[in-house]
Amino acid sequence: MNFFPFKKKKEIPDSNTTFTEEELQGFSESTFILSPYENACLDAFQRDHRHPEVNKGAIGGHISVDFTMTSIGCIPSVRCSICGKEQSIADYSKF
Ligand SMILES: [Zn+2]
Repeated sequence: MNFFPFKKKKEIPDSNTTFTEEELQGFSESTFILSPYENACLDAFQRDHRHPEVNKGAIGGHISVDFTMTSIGCIPSVRCSICGKEQSIADYSKF
């Protein structure tokens, strides 16, 4: 599946930067990876925020994982859209 159907160079708004189609293809391979510790924290958060009393539809999706880019690294945090709780799951031992 091609997520970047651009045929020509794509200009980034408010920038003089342009990318070729090949360079944009590289973005589709960018991923954010959770460490085993961060994955365990995410699993625990999901267990604590099942909210069986609330109908979340067929596919759920009330737990979000955000990645905040900082000068010391990428900080993952989780958020529950039902109760609004948010917490960092960062593995600070990797900094
Ligand atoms: Zn919750």
